[in-house]
Amino acid sequence: MRVVVDMENCHGHARCASLLPELFDSDDLGYAIVKDEGRVPLALEERVRIVVQSCPERAIRTEEN
Ligand code: SF4
Repeated sequence: MRVVVDMENCHGHARCASLLPELFDSDDLGYAIVKDEGRVPLALEERVRIVVQSCPERAIRTEEN
């Protein structure tokens, strides 16, 4: 699984980075930065699904490899 952020829709409140810092960082304005080119370790897949649901802008999606 890979995680992708649509930066057109990201509004930069850094919720993803606070919920899952293993995979997301945020820039100085709070906009999402995806770590490790979005590769999701198996152990984090369930938490990624929660983050996808938690993004208020629906800016995060997953793709299967
Ligand atoms: S939670 Fe969504 S809108 Fe907010 S910073 Fe993360 S990707 Fe962007």
